[in-house]
Amino acid sequence: MDRIRLFDKEFALSINPARIQNAVSKIAEEINRDLTGENPIFLSILNGSFMFTSDLLKKIRMDCQVSFIKFSSYEAISSTRRVKKLIGLDEDIKGRSLVLLEDIIDTGNTIVSVVNELKPMKPKQIKIATLFLKPGTYNGDINPDYVGLEIPNDFIVGYGLDYNQLGRNYEGVYKIIQ
Ligand code: 5GP
Ligand code: MG
Repeated sequence: MDRIRLFDKEFALSINPARIQNAVSKIAEEINRDLTGENPIFLSILNGSFMFTSDLLKKIRMDCQVSFIKFSSYEAISSTRRVKKLIGLDEDIKGRSLVLLEDIIDTGNTIVSVVNELKPMKPKQIKIATLFLKPGTYNGDINPDYVGLEIPNDFIVGYGLDYNQLGRNYEGVYKIIQ
């Protein structure tokens, strides 16, 4: 499929499934090389990373665990400020090697927030793997250790990524047609 329509927007295929799988394989090889013997915990940042996580883990050749985390935002009682809270982490991560799995890093705010929540729990190390990186907009202080593909600053959907919750189910990645 070359084009898809989600709500009012049209999207054109920009990264085909084979290219995505190559990028996932490259990340898996690097992790297999770097973390053998570490028994890492992969922490998949939901919702966007579910497909990346599934394909990546099939290519990991070592003892490892996987867990899924997400940010829930809620209104604090005493203020109208939106507070984000990391939910879903039930493992004891003290002394463990972590690999955060992100679908895409854009500004870097999300990954910086996740790292800041995890650091006080004293993991041995935190590695960051992102399938896609938009280098033009990234302004976080934390550099990803593993990057699948650097992409231009277009809004994309597919392979786990959504537009208002639609489009996550496609095997390829589609970019918005302006
Ligand atoms: P950041 O916090 O780095 O700006 O953005 C990270 C999150 O924003 C990603 O996990 C993803 O959910 C969302 N995001 C950033 N760029 C895109 C994009 O091009 N398409 C979609 N669907 N989500 C994006
Ligand atoms: Mg995400």
